[in-house]
Amino acid sequence: MFFLVDAMLGNIARKLLLLGFDTEYYSDIDDLKLISKAKNEQRTIISKDQELIARAKKQDIVSVHVTKEDEIEQFLEILEHIPLELDTISGDTARCTKCNSPTLQIDKSKISGKIPQKVLEFNDKFWKCESCNQIYWEGTHIKKLQEFLEKVKLGRDRT
Ligand SMILES: [Zn+2]
Repeated sequence: MFFLVDAMLGNIARKLLLLGFDTEYYSDIDDLKLISKAKNEQRTIISKDQELIARAKKQDIVSVHVTKEDEIEQFLEILEHIPLELDTISGDTARCTKCNSPTLQIDKSKISGKIPQKVLEFNDKFWKCESCNQIYWEGTHIKKLQEFLEKVKLGRDRT
């Protein structure tokens, strides 16, 4: 499953990446480029822009029109169209939220000095982006996502 997320949905893009989905996100790209990229790479477009969605559909690109403002409701809108697997959240499958590359587990001893001392003290598992070297840890990245997804699941079960 590959995604292309529009500029207004950066938070959604980050969550999809942490869930391990290959997701491209652009804060500034014109519609035609975005559509041709989605077509070439067979990406599903997720956007708030109705005009863009209409253009994409004309070209048979799978696309999801997000209309809600609340993040949980936005995620539920996406799930209505694409049944995403939400049960396996792990730093091992997460992708870098900065550059969409896979992340690899890295030994704590190798990152000493590169991240705040407090973070080192309170976390045991760390991951590093293969490509841009961004470092991730369970506390901020994985746990927040788990909490978010619990709320999403509650919302899904209600409907
Ligand atoms: Zn990266």
